[in-house]
Amino acid sequence: MKKCYMQFLFLILSVTVASEARASEVIVRLFDLRDCSVESLLAEGYDIASVNRSRNYVDVVIDESYLSTLEKKATSFRIMPESWVRLLPENTDDAGYYLDPAETLAFWTSLATTYPDLVQSPVTQGKSFQNRDIYSIRITSSSGPSDKPAIFFNSLIHSREPITNSVLADFGMWLASGYDNNDTMAKHILDNSEIYLMPIVNPDGYADNMTGGNMQRKNMNFTTPVTSSGIDLNRNFGYKWGHNTSGSSPDPSDETYRGSAAFSEKETQVLRAFTNTIDPIGSMHYHSYGGMVIYSWNYENLPTPHQSTFQSWASAMTAQNGYTYGRVGELGMSSNGDACDWSYENSEHQTCMAFGVEVDDSGFWGSQNDTTKIAELCAECRFMNKMLCMNLLNPTGIEITIEDVSTGILSVTGVSPNPVMNILNFSAGISSGSVEVTIFDLSGRQVDQFKVDNLESGECRLNWAVPASVPNGVYMLIVESGSQTASSRFTVLK
Ligand SMILES: [Zn+2]
Repeated sequence: MKKCYMQFLFLILSVTVASEARASEVIVRLFDLRDCSVESLLAEGYDIASVNRSRNYVDVVIDESYLSTLEKKATSFRIMPESWVRLLPENTDDAGYYLDPAETLAFWTSLATTYPDLVQSPVTQGKSFQNRDIYSIRITSSSGPSDKPAIFFNSLIHSREPITNSVLADFGMWLASGYDNNDTMAKHILDNSEIYLMPIVNPDGYADNMTGGNMQRKNMNFTTPVTSSGIDLNRNFGYKWGHNTSGSSPDPSDETYRGSAAFSEKETQVLRAFTNTIDPIGSMHYHSYGGMVIYSWNYENLPTPHQSTFQSWASAMTAQNGYTYGRVGELGMSSNGDACDWSYENSEHQTCMAFGVEVDDSGFWGSQNDTTKIAELCAECRFMNKMLCMNLLNPTGIEITIEDVSTGILSVTGVSPNPVMNILNFSAGISSGSVEVTIFDLSGRQVDQFKVDNLESGECRLNWAVPASVPNGVYMLIVESGSQTASSRFTVLK
């Protein structure tokens, strides 16, 4: 299955000219910082590529001629492979096995042609600084409620993070082909929500990386209203913009330069207007690299009112790939004016469960010749995307129907965790006697059944161990006691 749609992904890859390798940047891994911190490195203007608190290292992008400035800042350091910072000459394609701008558009156009009932052709939502299209794709079915909530995925706001774009393509492919193959989870998602994807938020920077040094992170506005090396779009959002200078710089030459004002940039204006239009209940903002899932607040290391939900969802999302998760401050970094905080909470739209992901790629371009690695990274992010959708679309897991209310109080409650990986817990409120529990899949096929006898009246706690043979999907839990029946829908996601 995976192989099938990854093959489809790569079928549309076209052969184009090799990029020039002319930049002199390297990534240096600093182990065990000495007399400095991530904060102080940022304040000195260093370009921080990734932070790993548990393994105690920081990756810094630096021009080789300045390497000596790092010598005293760490106990030891290592220069990472060249492929982490640039496309190597042996590449016969603009972006290696990552999707370049033309391939990205061709992929989404092709997907819409293949699945016209589900996938919308790319729609331009606005223009970038250099007048390139910033487009979105909607994927949904014609079934389900007329007013479905939106869930939003976006990538390449930082244009040197090309794995993020592959992740969105992979997820779009899974949704459309899964729905077409009667995958119950894909059906549940597309019948109950509209999935919106914006694969290239920063098209100018990405286009520049195809022909330049491959390390443009910011946008390509170098002149308005002040001279700069571009604006960090993920520091240009309007919630707590410029709150302080930790991870958000007022210096136009810094990689985290936040711009002259909140939403000063055309790209963030497009993302703002689009988000406010679709008003999503959840969103995923893709970055690379480092293997992390991040949630608000980011501007200060403070919990939001949704802290426990963020934490439990992030825990479930990372159960397979082992990514670390938490608030930016908990992960040893800092930022403000970023897309996650703004997407989560402000007066312009409803509360949105917004997550940032740092895909665990090898540097920025390290998988350029490795389709297996790209497929693995896409698969681990696909799991997280499904987990987010299923949590958003069935947050309590309870859809109770009581078919015989005249004779008692049978109910099934507290179905958790949902989605479930191993053990499903639930409670049944019964009058007395025994209960029979049956699990059906959505085609009505019985998956499992068991009976519990000699119960006293009241609340009894039950559980079901998910057999290894049960595939991922949406299921129905039916609890019967005497003449009464209660049910709840739940998701298995392993
Ligand atoms: Zn990023």
